[in-house]
Order: sequence, then structure tokens, then C-alpha cells
Amino acid sequence: MSANIDPPSEVDLLVAGAGPAGMAAALVASLEGLNVLLCEKSDQVGGTGSTSAGTLWIPGNSQSRAAGYSDSAEQADRYLSALIGEGTNRDLRNAYLRTGPMVIDYLSARSDVQFVPCGKHPDYRSNMPGAALAGRAIVPEPFDGRLLDGDFRRIRPPVPEFMVLGGMMVGKADISRLIGRFKSISNFLYSSKLFLRYLSDRLKYARGTRLMMGNALIARLFYSLRKRNVPILFDASIIEVEGDRNGVKGAQLKIGDKKIAVNARKGVVLATGGYAHNRSFREAFMPCPVPTYSMSAADNTGDGVEIGQRLGAVLTPEQSTSGLWTPVSIVPRGDGTEGLLPHLVLDRAKPGVIAVNSAGQRFVNEAASYHDFVLAMFECNKTTPAIPAWLICDSTFLAKYGLGVIYPGHRNPGQFVENGYLVSAPDLGELAGKIGIDALQLRGTVARYNGFAETGIDIDFGKGETELNRFNGDADHKPNPCIGSLAKPPFYALAVWPADIAVSTGLATDADARVLASDGKPIPGLYACGNDMASVMAGSYPGPGTTLGPAIVFAYRAVMHAKGFSL
Ligand SMILES: Cc1cc2nc3c(=O)[nH]c(=O)nc-3n(C[C@H](O)[C@H](O)[C@H](O)COP(=O)(O)OP(=O)(O)OC[C@H]3O[C@@H](n4cnc5c(N)ncnc54)[C@H](O)[C@@H]3O)c2cc1C
Repeated sequence: MSANIDPPSEVDLLVAGAGPAGMAAALVASLEGLNVLLCEKSDQVGGTGSTSAGTLWIPGNSQSRAAGYSDSAEQADRYLSALIGEGTNRDLRNAYLRTGPMVIDYLSARSDVQFVPCGKHPDYRSNMPGAALAGRAIVPEPFDGRLLDGDFRRIRPPVPEFMVLGGMMVGKADISRLIGRFKSISNFLYSSKLFLRYLSDRLKYARGTRLMMGNALIARLFYSLRKRNVPILFDASIIEVEGDRNGVKGAQLKIGDKKIAVNARKGVVLATGGYAHNRSFREAFMPCPVPTYSMSAADNTGDGVEIGQRLGAVLTPEQSTSGLWTPVSIVPRGDGTEGLLPHLVLDRAKPGVIAVNSAGQRFVNEAASYHDFVLAMFECNKTTPAIPAWLICDSTFLAKYGLGVIYPGHRNPGQFVENGYLVSAPDLGELAGKIGIDALQLRGTVARYNGFAETGIDIDFGKGETELNRFNGDADHKPNPCIGSLAKPPFYALAVWPADIAVSTGLATDADARVLASDGKPIPGLYACGNDMASVMAGSYPGPGTTLGPAIVFAYRAVMHAKGFSL
């Protein structure tokens, strides 16, 4: 691993935080000929971004157009108007939609940050006007971590629960082939190739080097930064900016127990990942009771937001719930610690699982987006405790689709009952007793739901009615790809809790990511992007890539403004 660099005393642009937002800002700055320094609090790049799915929501992107999908900024704007209101964040929205495709083309043409279209990947409110079923989401091309040599260790790894065999990344497309590896020769060869590559990686590296999703995004950004010799100062936290609301000219960094000042002629970009691990911000902005769990990187303690606040910057706390959410289950790890497993797309929409509150009643369309699922938990919890909520399924479901950390076809689901991850019982009444909910009510809920499985119509919550629901369901299951009966014992229950994957409250900015003071005027030389910036989506979650898309687009806009370009 390369040694840390000596900090320069003066640069054109100082970027704080080496997540996707900060790395993109530093890369664009370098491409634009600026002398840039990227400082990072931890000893690795990537932040939350490295553990993410790496999807960017970029309506009208040229990668999807080339693959035959048509879309336009106007259509996307129609959708956002339906979702967050016609005038909400109007300038930022216009800037985002207008610049997004161009930024992706710029990075693709001038760096190793390359993307591929996801194809079909419906927007999360796929039944609203202007929503798209395909073409808006792009993902980074997988990356070969071996290209980074010893600096591969500088990439923050994904969460362990997302890797198999203790360190191998798998993408969504790999899952069915790995699970069905003995079902066809082609699957067998495919899987064998992955395993062999992984084994050879482990002779030299601490984990597999076939990087996918968010890890590929971060590795591509890092590789591009390294190629351009952009200095990255590790273990260096921004703690203050030099200046006041009339202008920012640099910042103070803390490196170990030393403090140093760096002058920044063209400004400072705050990209420190938002406030997720700042207790007082959580209490001030998040719904009550304040969610315990966060999937954000542990170093994201709101430093950028506090720095902006001390300078008189405005926060936008009026966002709907101040965070972007997913239900998570708590995974007991072999070493005694706990992991968080987000229930994003793999299980909730499959036929044969329901979610119930503490009264044993359904309260949500289980196939809704992860964000909407948690909003329903918050709503239900106001009257009937739904934190945690319980995912309930039978043994047919568990074997066929898996649940949380238990993959489909797992040979020994009993081990997850033994380690406390899962609760199981031979009948629904006993299961209800074990998780402390009313047995009669749970039996009634399941009986009613089993009726929906026969008709294919969920008259309570409309499960399976939207394209998004069906996309994540099982197309082979009839009559409704998202509804199946719970019939075969043993039955299982898994507790799920709300956790933020990103925060949406942050520093108010203009369309060039300039931080705004309380008088509505930009603070010259101070920019914010990523989760330090208030979400352009106003706390809503329109589709896959809602935070990474804006993080990279507004990083670009910030740098172009700092350089003196008007977009
Ligand atoms: C499981 C999961 C899946 C996700 N999938 C997606 C997805 O597919 N698409 C999407 O759009 N979003 C996704 N997200 C959300 C996305 O990862 C985050 O919104 C995004 O990473 C935020 O980028 P960022 O650069 O603002 O912050 P981060 O990625 O968290 O990076 C912030 C960096 O700043 C550093 N830092 C903190 N304080 C300081 C300081 N004082 N000085 C210097 N450095 C500092 C941190 O150490 C960190 O490296 C996902 C999140 C999770 C958890």
C-alpha cells in the first residue's frame, strides 16, 4: 500500500471526503487542469459508496440510448413533478436533468470511469406519470482490482454479508448462475471460472479482485485519480474552513494529532458523506423514535454539515423524512459482532412472504421499494408498533427464494435459527407466540393472504400491481408473480428494522453546488456535494441511483463553477 503523502500548503481546490462525490470532484478538477488535493478521514477511499450497488439514475443517458432505450429529461421531469411537486428544487432539478448525461459522457471519454446501461430497471413509483421502466439506471463496468497493485487495499470493501466465501463479490446476474451451477453446463463453467479466479486472487489479496457495483465505481474513480497523480491525503479530516460567509479561502485539516492549514485558491468542496453518524443531527431530523441503524460509513459524522453551519449556511431539514431508507435484518457474525443486511430487491417481492406489525397485521405492499417499505413502517408505528416489523414465510419460500442473508437453496437454514437470526416454529400460532404477536391475528392474516395467492389480487395493498413489484417478483409464479401462499411448515419469522442508506437533509446549495447562507446568497468558494448537500430529490426516492447520480453530477458542476465555467 502506498505511503501517505506530504500535504501541500496551497492548492487550487481542496476536496474533503473520498466517497463517490469527493472522488468525482477531484477527478474532474484534475481533468480541468486544476491543482487539487483530496483529503480523506479514514485510510481507505470509498465511504458508503464502496458498499453500494453503484447504480446511478441518469435520465436520458447516452449509454441506454445506444442500447435502444428512449427517454428524455422532459419525461423525467414530469415524473419528478408528480413525485415531489412541480416547483420543488426547480433550479437544481433542471441543472441535474440537463447536465447528467453530459457528465457521464465526459467521465467515460476522459477517464476509466465507465458505465453500462442496466436495461430494464423500473422507477420506484413506476405507476406515476413520466416514470420509466428501463433506461434511466446505469452501473459501473466491473473492474479488475489487480490493476491497482498494492493500492487495492486502499479500496474500502463491501459489507461482508454481500460477499460469498468470505471475500468474493457477486453481481445480481451471477446469483442465479451460481445457485444453479449444477443445473446446466454453461452455469457450471461460468461458476467454476468465478471460483477459480477467486482462488487465485486469494493467493495474493485479502479478498477477490473482481469488483462490481459500488466497489467498481470507487475502484474506477481511484484508478483514474492515480493515473493522473492526483494527491490523496489519507487519515486527514477537514475540521474547519478558513474564511467567513463572505468567502472561503482554504481549510484546516487534522492529521493524527497535528493540525495543518491548506490554502485553496478556488475553493473547498465538502463531500464528507452527510450526518448519518451524528447523534444530535439524527435526533433533530429523523422520525421518532430515531432509527438505531445506519448503513452509512462510520466516519460520516456530519463534519461537512457542521462546518457549513458554523459559517451560517442553511440546512434543508424540511425533506420528507431526512433519510433514504431500507429495511435491514441484524446478522450475528461468527466473531460476535453484528452485520446489517439490507432487504433491497431479492426477497420482499417474491411470492410467499408477508410483513406484519406487532399486532400480526400486514401494513404495507411488501414489494414496494425499500424506501417506501420503511416509510410504511414509520407510518404504521404511529398507531401500532411496526419497528421491528416481521417478515413471515414458510419453508417452501425459504428454500426457493432465500430470506435476507440465507441464500436460495441453502442446505442448512437451521443454523440461522440456532444463531438467533431467524425464528422458526412448526405452526403459525407457535411462531406468533415466539415473536410476541397475537396468534389468532397472525393466523387470520395468513389465511386472508393465502386467498389473495389464489385469486392473484391483493385487495388490501395491491401487491404485484406495479411494474416495479413484478420486476422483483418471480415471473414464473402465477397468477401473481409477487403473491404465494404460506402453507408448508416450518414457518419462519425475521425481524427487520429501518436503516438509512443515505441522508437527504444537508446543506442547501444552488445549482452549481455553492453552499447557501441564511440570506439565500452563496458563500463564495464553498461547495457541497454528495450527502453533505441537501438532496435534489427532496427526500424522495424516484428510482435506482437516486443519490449517486446527483453526487457525481453536482460534483462536476461544483468544479466547473470553481474553474469559472458557467454551465
Ligand atoms: C447497501 C447500500 C446500497 C446503496 N446503493 C446505492 C445505489 O445503487 N445507488 C445510489 O444512488 N445510492 C446507493 N447507496 C447510497 C450511496 O452509497 C450514498 O448515498 C453515497 O455513497 C454518498 O456518497 P458521498 O460521497 O456523499 O458519501 P460516502 O460515500 O459515504 O463518502 C464520504 C467519505 O467522506 C469521508 N469523510 C467523512 N468525514 C470527513 C472529514 N471530516 N474529512 C475528510 N473526509 C471525511 C468518509 O470517510 C467517506 O470516505 C447505497 C447505500 C448502501 C448502504
